[in-house]
Amino acid sequence: MDPSAAKRSLLDIIDARKNELVALCSDLIKIPSENPPGKVDEIVAFISRFLAKNGIESRIVGPSPAYPSIVAGIGKGRALLFNGHCDVVPAGDRARWDFDPYGGDVTSTTIRGRGTSDMKCGLGAALFAMSLFAQERIPLKGRLGIHIVPDEETGGAHGTKWLIENGYADDAFACIVAEPTGSDTCEVGQKGQVRIHVAAEGKAAHGSIGNYVGENAIMKIVALLGRIEELRSMTGEYSESQAQVLIDSKRIAQEKLDRPQVGDVIDHVTVNPGIIKGGTKINMVPDLCEADIDVRVPIGLSTRQVVSRFEELLRQLNLNSVRYSVECSEANYTEVSEPLVRTIVDNAEAVWHHRVVPAYQWASSDARYYRLKGVPTLQYGPANTPGIHSYNEDVDIEDVVNAAKIYAATICDLLVGI
Ligand SMILES: [Zn+2]
Repeated sequence: MDPSAAKRSLLDIIDARKNELVALCSDLIKIPSENPPGKVDEIVAFISRFLAKNGIESRIVGPSPAYPSIVAGIGKGRALLFNGHCDVVPAGDRARWDFDPYGGDVTSTTIRGRGTSDMKCGLGAALFAMSLFAQERIPLKGRLGIHIVPDEETGGAHGTKWLIENGYADDAFACIVAEPTGSDTCEVGQKGQVRIHVAAEGKAAHGSIGNYVGENAIMKIVALLGRIEELRSMTGEYSESQAQVLIDSKRIAQEKLDRPQVGDVIDHVTVNPGIIKGGTKINMVPDLCEADIDVRVPIGLSTRQVVSRFEELLRQLNLNSVRYSVECSEANYTEVSEPLVRTIVDNAEAVWHHRVVPAYQWASSDARYYRLKGVPTLQYGPANTPGIHSYNEDVDIEDVVNAAKIYAATICDLLVGI
């Protein structure tokens, strides 16, 4: 089949049947799947039924029944994968919502509720696009697959990470994660992370004589935290092919976050001491103090380099007795020259009639697991940013319909024809 003929007819079908797509998204919103606690059985059952009804084979897999992922697909051979998480962050204080977060409300221009932008409507658009290829029996030269995962909002270890470690992405040549990006940008890289846990020991004594006979564990951690921001001077090194993406990413961060110098968040290390614990009583010299520090690492800098600098800081401060442990995940990116990136950008620009810019993000998501496995991966999905992880979350219907069109068109380009 000619990919451009298939594309034209699918885009017409999506226009004609967009109410079905909106109804699917609304149904997904009506099934709460807050994480924590992370119970997703009902939404997993709903999606499994949708897949079965559309003749798409699916299986439920995972490390335990508490973490069911759906792997589904049509066709054979090397796979173009979609990925979407079906958990949402809790709605929080209901009084702060102007509508029921789980009502699945549809207005003339928006779908409203928890998970509309992050990311049940992106997931709905991917499922809907996929169902059309099954219904229309469009011949594919490879496999069109999807991973629907449960625990992205708490780190993804039991969802996407588990799927990749267990071989479910071994046949993938590309992956599209339907996370919210908004229509004018697609995500092609993310920062890495070093989570540092430090524990300082001291010598207990009465507080009144502590300066002479004790050893204050809190003051050791305070000394360290007083200089930890020195790590922020570390920056990434970028290749020529990444230079334009870097410029665009810094501009986008500057526009979105609107604070002095905030564009630097893309190519600099950031440091956030998030937890500190120490001491028992005001008149006792504390003999233990612990802290957790979240360090984000830009593309072009390894976590090893950051850990070395941290160790150097401990030496300079004579804090050799401070114990520490680190959990590292590397920054990751997909080259913009990859066919996947060009195809999404071209189709998105054709559907929207505006520029779509590949960019790096300051946060991270499940996309990293595919990239670290070597699968070219990008994120593109409908979004109204203000409600994400906040109140009054919604998404524009036009954004959802266009996402379905862009996904369908991309599948045509990458999987239809000789
Ligand atoms: Zn998300």
